[in-house]
Parts: sequence; structure tokens; C-alpha cells
Amino acid sequence: MYEGVFKPPRGRCWNWILGALAILAALFVAAAVVVFGVNRFTLELELKGEPEVNIEYGGRFQEPGAVLCLRGSLLCRDGFTPKDARVSIQGSVDEKTPGKYTLTYLADYRGLHAQAQRVVRIVDTVCPEIFLTPDPEGSLIPGTPYEEAGYRAVDNHDGDITDRVVRTEQYGKILYAVTDSSGNPGYAQREIPFYDPIPPEITLTGGEHYAIPTGVFYTEPGYAARDNVDGDLTEHVQVEGEVDWLTPGVYPVTYTVSDGFENTTTVTRRVEVTAAQRPQTVWPENKTIYLTFDDGPGPETERLLDILDSYGVKATFFVTSRGCGEMMKEIVERGHSIGIHTVSHDYAQIYASPEAFFADLFAMQDVIYQNTGIKTTLMRFPGGSSNTVSRETSEGLMTLLTRAVQDAGFQYFDWNVDSNDAGGAKKAQTVFDNVIEGVTRNPVSVVLQHDIHSFSVDAVEDILIWGLNNGYTFAPLTPNSPGVHHRVQN
Ligand code: ZN
Repeated sequence: MYEGVFKPPRGRCWNWILGALAILAALFVAAAVVVFGVNRFTLELELKGEPEVNIEYGGRFQEPGAVLCLRGSLLCRDGFTPKDARVSIQGSVDEKTPGKYTLTYLADYRGLHAQAQRVVRIVDTVCPEIFLTPDPEGSLIPGTPYEEAGYRAVDNHDGDITDRVVRTEQYGKILYAVTDSSGNPGYAQREIPFYDPIPPEITLTGGEHYAIPTGVFYTEPGYAARDNVDGDLTEHVQVEGEVDWLTPGVYPVTYTVSDGFENTTTVTRRVEVTAAQRPQTVWPENKTIYLTFDDGPGPETERLLDILDSYGVKATFFVTSRGCGEMMKEIVERGHSIGIHTVSHDYAQIYASPEAFFADLFAMQDVIYQNTGIKTTLMRFPGGSSNTVSRETSEGLMTLLTRAVQDAGFQYFDWNVDSNDAGGAKKAQTVFDNVIEGVTRNPVSVVLQHDIHSFSVDAVEDILIWGLNNGYTFAPLTPNSPGVHHRVQN
């Protein structure tokens, strides 16, 4: 039996709701405990402005301050500034003293601690200045030492640092330099009319007295010029003066140079062209024949030497350079005189100029020396001193050369008996006749023959026999023998 409407029991419903609420509250409390227990708070200090600040000396440091921030790791992550928190600063900045200063920012808040640092540098990068007192009007006199008009050095930090100025006087200017205590440099410069009273110096290689023998071509022995200001001035030296290397005498050669301040130095070299002493001519007392043979040695020379040997007669050979060096040696070894004729026997070449002639002369002297060990001073001009081949090209050449070769220490020999073996005579008999005819005219004869001609060599034995039978002495030429010089025609 059931009557009425079912009504759930009231008491049981409320119990169910209350139970659910209790469970929810328990869950909420558990969640809060978990959240707040894990959420950690940190205290942070954030500097306003830069953590490193440079301030020029003389400027002011304005403390930018720092912000304190309390921040949670889960909740309140944006953080906030607690109203009752305080930031303290340790350290200070001395704006009057350049240096490095460290400021430490500290904060404590409910057991939490925060710290930050800022570096402040007071720097001096301003260079000191040097002020020059102007030179009074008319005070700069060239030639007198410069008198300092005064200067002052001032630094923004160090103040007056005049006593630290280093002053350097250079040519034409004075440099002033100073450094402040921070190492900043300051410079100034003053122009002064520099005066250099010291002239350059010239040194002569070979000295102020320089001697060369006649006939040796003069070449500048060298020089150098130095100046205290300008340094090496060698290439600016003007050299003046001519040296006649063919004529004995003293020739001044001047060397002149000026420096940049118009100091001029002149030195003079006295070049002496020396003359060799001329040998004393000794005339033989007896009737004498000097047989001379030009243009060899050649194929006939050995035979000629044998003929001379067999009569014990010595002769003279004026040689050329034709590749018979061995024969030159033989001529000397067999007691004959040897003299210079020419290297080339090329008239156009050797009589082209004094230079050409002397070049040939010394070259031939050297050839003979190389072959015989004798430095002969005997010589014969090709064509004789009376030749006129140079008249066209070089007027007065033989007049010059005949004198110059003697001043150079040579003795030249012409002839007074011509066998004419280089001219019309083509047979031994003619050569013999010409020689005997000439010899009989002179007490002392210098006979011209050429040992490159067979027929001329053929005539020699008869000439020797004739001479010896007629009371003549045959002799070789020496520097003291008569030169029998021709009349010069150019
Ligand atoms: Zn000749």
C-alpha cells in the first residue's frame, strides 16, 4: 500500500550537497597549497641608465638610480615594486679625479637580497694646449741664434704644465710638445728664419795635388761633397778646368758647390802633368852604324838574327804586333835592342788623334813587355816624325807628338840612311848600294831597313862585311843614342 507522492527524504539530500562542497573545499585548499608552495619569489635590482658610464673630466655624474622588483616564478611573474622596499648605494664618484669608480646597489626585502654594480669612469681625453708668445717685431735676425719669445702650456686637468714642454729646435722651426698626466699630447710649432753658416765640404779623391805623367789621359779622380744641412751634394759639384795631359805643367781644376743657404765652397786640385827627364844623348866616338829594322818580326827575322850573330853585330828592331811574340823574345835574348813601332801600322788610325796615338803606343809597349819582360822606351813613328799623313786631319799633330812622347819618357828615332827597301829598292844589291852610299856621308848612321823583306835581309851580310872592313862599329840603339830626328812637317 502506497499512498500519496513519493518524497525523497529531505535529510538525505542536504547531506549529499554538503559532502560535495566539503570535497571541493578540500581540493581547493590542496591546490592552493601546491601553487603557493611551488611559486618562488626573487628580488631583482635593475639599473636605470648604462651599467658602464664614461664622463669627461669636468662633467657631472647624475645618479640614474635603480628599480627594485619582486617577481614570482609562477604567479606574479611581471613583478612589482614593494612600497616599503629601499635601495642603498655603496661607493661614490670623485668627479675631480680621473679614474674608475664602482657603485654597488643593495636591497633587502623580507629575507630576499639583491645586488647590482655600475662602473663610472672619469676620463680626461682633452689635449693640453700650448700658447706661443709672438716674436716681437724685428726680433728675428738671420745669422743670430734664435731667442725664445716664450710659451705656456695649459691642460684642462693638470693646469699649467709649461715646465713639461719639450722644445726642439730644427732647421727653420721650433717644435714644442707636451703630454698631460692622462697621456694626451699637445703640440705647437714656430717658424724661425734658420741660418746655417757652415758651408759644405768637398773632399778630393787623390788629393789636392795630383800628378800624372805626360801621355796618360787625365780622367777625373773623383770627389765628394757633404753639407751639415743638405747632406750629400756630390752631384751638384761644378768642376771647371782643363788638363792638357800631353803638355807638362800644373793645371788647376776647381770644384764648387753651394748649400741651400748659399754657402759656397770651392776647392782646387792642382793637377801636375809631369815630364820625364830626357836622356842625355851620347854621340859615339867611333864611326858607328845603327842598323834598324822596322815592321817585323816576321818570317825573315830568324834568318836575319843568324846573320847578325855570325858577325857578332847587334841591331835594333822596331816591332809591330803581328803575332810573332816568340821572335820578340828571341830578339831580346840574342842581345838586340827592341823598340815600339806600332800595333796596327794603320796610319789613319794611329794618327787620328793624340789619344789614338798614345793608346797605340802604350798598347805596343805592353805587347813587348808581355813577350820579353822589357818595358822599352825606344820608339819609331810609322813613316818617321817627318810624315805628313796627319796634316789633313790633325794640323800640328807631329809637332805635338814628337814633343809629347819625349815628355812621356820615350825616345823616338828617325833615320839618316834610308835603304829605300819600302820604296824603289826591290833587290838586295840596290839596298846595299843605298846603305853604303848613305853611311859614307855620316860619321854616325841610323839605317832604315825592313826585316819583312827578304831581299833587304839578303843585303845585310854584305853591309856588315863592308862596314867592318871599313872601320865602322855596329851598335844597337839605347835611349842615349842620337835620335837623328827629322824635320817635323806637320
Ligand atoms: Zn813601318
